Amino acid sequence: MIVMKFGGTSVESAQAIERVAGIVKDRIACRPVVVVSAMGKTTNKLLAIAAAAVAGHRDTALAQLEDLRQFHHLETAGLGVDAQIEAHFQELTELVKGLAVMGEMTPRATDAVSAFGERLSSIIVNAKFRQLGIESVHVDARSVMITDHRHAQAAPLFAESYGRLAATIPALAATNVVVMGGFIGSTEDGVTTTLGRGGSDFTASIVGAGIGADEIQIWTDVDGMLTADPTVLPGGYRVKHCSFAEAAELAYFGAKVLHPATVLPAIEKNIPVRILNSRRPQVEGTLITAEAPKSSTPIRSIACKKNITLVNIVSTRMLMAHGFLRRIFEIFDRYETSVDMLATSEVSVSLTIDNTGNLADIRREIEEFADFAAEGDQAIVCMVGDNIRTVPGVAARAFIALKDIRVRMISEGASQLNISLVVAASDLGRAVESLHREFFSNPDPAAFE
Ligand code: ASP
Repeated sequence: MIVMKFGGTSVESAQAIERVAGIVKDRIACRPVVVVSAMGKTTNKLLAIAAAAVAGHRDTALAQLEDLRQFHHLETAGLGVDAQIEAHFQELTELVKGLAVMGEMTPRATDAVSAFGERLSSIIVNAKFRQLGIESVHVDARSVMITDHRHAQAAPLFAESYGRLAATIPALAATNVVVMGGFIGSTEDGVTTTLGRGGSDFTASIVGAGIGADEIQIWTDVDGMLTADPTVLPGGYRVKHCSFAEAAELAYFGAKVLHPATVLPAIEKNIPVRILNSRRPQVEGTLITAEAPKSSTPIRSIACKKNITLVNIVSTRMLMAHGFLRRIFEIFDRYETSVDMLATSEVSVSLTIDNTGNLADIRREIEEFADFAAEGDQAIVCMVGDNIRTVPGVAARAFIALKDIRVRMISEGASQLNISLVVAASDLGRAVESLHREFFSNPDPAAFE
C-alpha cells in the first residue's frame, strides 16, 4: 500500500481531479490510499463565510456560500453527486445561519464549518475516480482519525487512530482505491475536529503509519526540493534524496513544500516520504528518509528568508554582569516577537527578526540598558546539509565564494547541518548565485538532477 496525498491546487477543478485520477491509475498496483485536501481555496472561503456571519454580515455570508455551492456543483456536473453536495450545503447553510444568530464563533463551530471542504472534496474525488473506471471507495476520515477536543488544532490520539486505520483500510485497499479527506477528524464521542491549517499532510502521514504503508507520497505543484530557492535563483537542481533533518531545516527556511512536524509519524515508523509534482508526474521528486545516502556535494540546498531585520544590541555596562541575555529575550518574548538567528559576544548581541510590528516598543525598553540599532531590508541565506557536520572546509568555500559580498552575521546551528548568513536584501541574488556556483557547478548526479 502507498498513501497519496493531493493538496488543494491538485484537486481545484474537475480537470485537476482528472489529472489526479490519471496519476492514481498509473500506480494502482501499489494499492493507493488517497488523501485529499479541500478543492482550491475552499477552507479559506469557509472560514471567511463563518467570520462574516458572526460579524453580523449575514447576507454577505450567505452570498459567498452560494458562490461556493455553485462552484462545487459546476465542477461536479455529470458525476451523479448532486444530491450529496446539496445535502452538505443544506447542513452548512443551517450552520451559517445559526452563527449569524449567535454572533459568536466557538472553536467547535469553526471546525464544523471548515471540515466541509474535505468532506465534499473526498466524495467528489471518489465519484470522479469511479466515473473514470477506477474501483474506489470513500471512507469518512472522521471515522478513523480520532483526536482530542482541541478544536482547530486537534492532536491525534495515535493508538486509537492507528487501531481504527489498521482495522478498516487494508481490507478495503485490497480491492479498491480508498479515498478520504485530509485535515478532518473527530473526537471519541463523534464531534468533528480539524488538525490545523495545512493538516492534510499530517493526515497522510498518520494514515501511512497506521496501515504500515510502503511509501507516503505528497503530491504538490513543485518538482520537489530544489538546490536553491527558485524565487531567488531559477534553474537550481532537484534534490533527489534528503534526510528528514535536512527537510525540516529547509521547511523552516521557507521552502514551503512540507511542514516538518507533519511527517513525524512516518519517520517514527521508518516509512519513506516522497514529494512529487501532480503537473509533472514523470519527475521522480524528492525522497525523504531518516538517513539520506552520502553525496560528494557537501550541501543539499541553499534556502533563503527575505524581509529580515537585523538588530544589534550593545551594552558595555553589562560587561561581566549576568542576566544580559535574559533581559533582552524577556522583552522579545513579552512582545511576542520571535528571534531567528543569533550571535553573541560578552557585551553585544546580534539577532534577526521578521516581525517588526512591536519593534518601537522593544527598542524603547532595551534602550534603558543598552544601545539598540535595527536595520531592515536584510535576508538570511542558509546552507543546509547533513555533510556540513563531517566534511571540512564547507565554511571556507562559502566565504571565498562570498568574498565580494558584505556578510552581516554568521551562525552555525547546534544541529551542525546548517550555516546561515545575513546579507543585505540587495545582495541576496548575488550571494545565492555565488554559493550555488561554488557548491553545485558539478553536482553529484547520484544526489541531484
Ligand atoms: N484544507 C486545509 C487547509 O487549507 C488542509 C490542507 O489543505 O492541508 O488548511
